[in-house]
Amino acid sequence: MLLRIGGWALALFAGGTLGWLLADARGALLGVVAVNVVWMALDAVRGLRLLRWLKRGDMTRQPQLGAFWDEFANRTRRLVRLRDQQTQEVQTRLDDFLDAIQASPNGVVLLDNLGHIEWCNQTAANHFGFDLERDLMQHIGNLVRDPVFAAYYNHPQGSPDVVMTGNGHSASRPVRLLVHLHAYGTGRRLLLSRDVTAVEQADAMRRDFVANVSHEIRTPLTVLAGFVETLQNLTLDENERRRYLALMATQSQRMQSLVSDLLTLSKLEGSPLPGAHERVPMRRLLAQCEADARALSTLLADPPHQLNFDAGPDCEVTGVQSELLSAMSNLLNNAIRYTPPGRHVSARWQALPNGRFEFMVKDSGPGIAPEHLPRLTERFYRVDRSRSRETGGTGLGLAIVKHVVQRHGGELRIHSVVGQGSTFAIELPANRVRLVSGSADRSAHETRRSSERSIASNA
Ligand code: ADP
Repeated sequence: MLLRIGGWALALFAGGTLGWLLADARGALLGVVAVNVVWMALDAVRGLRLLRWLKRGDMTRQPQLGAFWDEFANRTRRLVRLRDQQTQEVQTRLDDFLDAIQASPNGVVLLDNLGHIEWCNQTAANHFGFDLERDLMQHIGNLVRDPVFAAYYNHPQGSPDVVMTGNGHSASRPVRLLVHLHAYGTGRRLLLSRDVTAVEQADAMRRDFVANVSHEIRTPLTVLAGFVETLQNLTLDENERRRYLALMATQSQRMQSLVSDLLTLSKLEGSPLPGAHERVPMRRLLAQCEADARALSTLLADPPHQLNFDAGPDCEVTGVQSELLSAMSNLLNNAIRYTPPGRHVSARWQALPNGRFEFMVKDSGPGIAPEHLPRLTERFYRVDRSRSRETGGTGLGLAIVKHVVQRHGGELRIHSVVGQGSTFAIELPANRVRLVSGSADRSAHETRRSSERSIASNA
């Protein structure tokens, strides 16, 4: 700067001296004024070039303006670059922050002090059915019309949060949202939403389950308590006493079965998935199932059922023996319990044309109407309540079967025709089943025969 003032003073002195030499004092004055005008004109041109450069905003193409103006331009360029860097950093931080809110499983809506939507994440847009572009700056009350929300929005101090229906809610596919409003800044509000449909459904299921278990236990307990009272207060002859004790034994057996099935279910839910280390010999399992089924049929039916067992190819299944036994005997028990005495019940282990294997139980019982089929594996769902109770059913058998089959990567197929009978099949994936050597050829032959049979029956 000093250099520039010095240069300016030198130019004035030179102009004044030249003017003096040419025309005395007036010439000196004119010389000084002329030098000043030229100096200012040059400055104006440089200033204009600087302004044009700044306006263009392209900091890379800096004009050459001479020492003082170059310094000015350099400093301006450095300042602008610093500001750009700072803005970039703030923008990156803002983007990270918005990305984090976008990734949140909860909905986030920023409302201004009039209730207009300033910003919302994709989850909130899905929860409330907002269009991320069209609905910005719309009033929240115009878009979320649920009366529960309207009441809460107008009087948020009434409760910390509310549960309302979400976008796309219907009776068959409920969507429930937990919604919070938080005040922040000057009159602004933050609206948070969380999908609680699964939590509400789990709660309802838990309540139903507890109610069902209590109901199932209360009935035999009431009967037992009644008999105990009778035995305590009345003098009974030996026959009556024996009959009462037998009835009491039946009721306590019923409670035992229920508790045992409940424990099985909770064990299935709580234990890790079956690994690949345990190989279950199917022949042995089928032999045990057959013996149990024959014993049950003799106990329950007179005359006993006509049981037909086909052990099929000799295989080993990778899985948990106790679980597989429980699933297979549940299907057989049901077939025997629901099929009238003397009728046919058959069970078969076989390879399927698609490479999978199945354990199939076919009965000639009453059959099940189609509307019940999708609900059969629900806990405590019964089609024939009295037959189930009479034969010691807990209502948990097929729920256990479904769990076991799913844990082994398989599928439970049910086919039933009212008046003709039912077929329940546990289908296991090929990678869980290994043919024991020697039975491979036979299995291939049997598979071929069974596909030929099915082609023939389809034709
Ligand atoms: P339960 O202990 O009552 O038999 P399950 O879960 O094993 O409970 O079966 C659920 C319901 O499905 C039964 O109550 C019965 O009404 C029906 N069911 C199951 N298997 C058969 C079958 N083979 N034939 C007819 N109905 C069946």
